[in-house]
Amino acid sequence: MTTTSTIAYIGLGSNLSEPIEQVKNAIKAIRKITQSSILSVSSLYLSKPMGPQDQDNYINAVLSLETSLSPIELLDALQAIENEFGRVRKENRWGARILDLDILLFGNQVINSERLVIPHYGMTEREFVLIPLAEISPLLQLPNGQNISSLSQNISVNSMIKLSEY
Ligand code: ATP
Ligand code: MG
Ligand code: MG
Repeated sequence: MTTTSTIAYIGLGSNLSEPIEQVKNAIKAIRKITQSSILSVSSLYLSKPMGPQDQDNYINAVLSLETSLSPIELLDALQAIENEFGRVRKENRWGARILDLDILLFGNQVINSERLVIPHYGMTEREFVLIPLAEISPLLQLPNGQNISSLSQNISVNSMIKLSEY
């Protein structure tokens, strides 16, 4: 049997119930995803919320994962972890959450399906995605050829703080 593996990038975020611990525990849970292994993990970052401001600051990080799962299988595995951590989906977009796991990139694939948009639609405008991505993978390019390093250099960093090496 031959399995092809792909490098995927995952963005993590939490702003509830000791978010540093949530993100660290989420990384442990991601380590257990079948047919996958973590290659590198960024520092943890403290960032201001997007959207509604009446919520706590976020802890964000990004990691790279080598996987032979399909994109949808990886999404299923990540959503199972979100649910296990007690994520409750609410009507209000970008509200407080215990754990958000987004697939930022999946190799060079471009996907536009009902459940999955890859590259993640917001990634080029989010400092809490671009800065940690550039930290772990400065030579990375989007499928359209854009460089993560130039995107991250051009983003205005409003109030994000690098907390600690993971
Ligand atoms: P945002 O997408 O703006 O970061 P969010 O992460 O809070 O907001 P969720 O509630 O976590 O949004 O996800 C809503 C839906 O987005 C999920 O049910 C999932 O099917 C879909 N989705 C589409 N593309 C992706 C992706 N690349 N990674 C994760 N979920 C995705
Ligand atoms: Mg998200
Ligand atoms: Mg999400």
